[in-house]
Amino acid sequence: MNMQSIQPATARSRALAGRSAIVTGSTSGIGLGIARALAAEGASVMLNGFGDADDIARTRGALAEEFGVRVCYSDADMSKPEQVAAMVRTAEAKFGSVDVLVNNAGIQHVAPIEEFPAGKWDAILAINLSSAFHAIRAAVPGMKTRGWGRIVNVASAHGHVASPFKSAYVAAKHAVLGLTKVVALELAEHGVTANAVCPGYVWTPLVEKQIEEQARAHNIPRDQIVRDVLLKKQPNKRFSTVEEIGATVVFLCSAGAATITGASINVDGGWTAE
Ligand code: NAD
Repeated sequence: MNMQSIQPATARSRALAGRSAIVTGSTSGIGLGIARALAAEGASVMLNGFGDADDIARTRGALAEEFGVRVCYSDADMSKPEQVAAMVRTAEAKFGSVDVLVNNAGIQHVAPIEEFPAGKWDAILAINLSSAFHAIRAAVPGMKTRGWGRIVNVASAHGHVASPFKSAYVAAKHAVLGLTKVVALELAEHGVTANAVCPGYVWTPLVEKQIEEQARAHNIPRDQIVRDVLLKKQPNKRFSTVEEIGATVVFLCSAGAATITGASINVDGGWTAE
């Protein structure tokens, strides 16, 4: 081992300085947490997702100023294959390369299988699964040419285990793990890794909304909803944070993770250990 490569934290330069990343679905929640974590390590970042144009512009500006990196935005709809490919081409044109691709955009719908709307099934498969395929397909040629790339797919504990009423989501997340393994094998000799991160419950605005709604609907204190309803399956009885997911993605992009590929890392407080 080259002992010189181990430096004290204070002397270390930012791990992703000079690299460029796309994070899909990064206008909110986990994606934004990942984008922040990558920017903090010096990566230029392309944000993507829906939202208020002024809010997105403010987020872009704040990230660029705080971390001294380039930040741009694509409004590509991840349910549209041609827009996914165009997003990758635009990022390559703006930054010169896409070194890190984080496929994070995702939606959810909860309903019994016999009532599950076919349109929702199609949308969830398109956004949570097929968009990753289309983005990887578009980004891989450049990564191969440069001999370096990091692909991180945000799956879920539901990539490993199921819950009732989430047929499309669970199917898509299981499939994302399969896709991750195939891509890892195909790129194993090209300096490109492909891994999945599998969060349990993560505290995002989306989840906060659910807590308030359920507390009101059941007339139960908020803490009890969190513990007995939402975190029933999560042994550590707390949400992961978007910062913890961001840190996991940064680790997967670091030199120390160069031989981790085809893996899924559970960030779920022990949920899938049971
Ligand atoms: P969120 O709703 O806060 O964010 C989703 C992001 O995806 C937003 O930026 C949204 O604009 C974007 N998006 C939605 N549809 C899109 C489309 N068609 N095209 C482009 N962007 C689109 O959700 P989140 O909780 O941050 O979830 C992010 C990812 O993490 C998802 O893949 C989700 O399945 C996964 N995940 C979340 C949790 C959790 O507890 N929050 C747990 C496990 C996995």
